[in-house]
Amino acid sequence: MVEPLDGNAIAGELFEIFGREMTAATGACSSCGATSQVAQLRVYMQAPGAVARCPGCGEVVIVIVDIRGTLRIDTSGFGLVDPQMAAPPADRPAGT
Ligand SMILES: [Zn+2]
Repeated sequence: MVEPLDGNAIAGELFEIFGREMTAATGACSSCGATSQVAQLRVYMQAPGAVARCPGCGEVVIVIVDIRGTLRIDTSGFGLVDPQMAAPPADRPAGT
């Protein structure tokens, strides 16, 4: 039996992806609608990445995969409430 970690286990990866501290970010589970902080998610490290599950219903809400050193994240199951946190900083031109 694998013991889940909490969201702090992926804090480093999230920081790398979003460029900011994300463990206090709040999102809503797309399955059961429960809102929780990233730090409250149940994280399972599984090569080559990690999955974070909703503490309420256990549905996978965030998937992080490390592809040859490049982190890819899928937060489609976790509706981040703060829109600033919803998208990683993109290479968009300044002043749009
Ligand atoms: Zn849920």
